[in-house]
Amino acid sequence: MAKDPICGMMVDEKTAKWTSDYNGKKYYFCNEKCKITFDKNPKRFAV
Ligand SMILES: [Zn+2]
Repeated sequence: MAKDPICGMMVDEKTAKWTSDYNGKKYYFCNEKCKITFDKNPKRFAV
């Protein structure tokens, strides 16, 4: 399981529909809204 950096929800990597790559790391999101929020300002949310 991966943690959605936007809302803190746990996301299953195998079934995740929304992902983003940032700084060589993959991020998983529970829905499109969280992905869009991340993509707008990845620096703010990337760990
Ligand atoms: Zn989310």
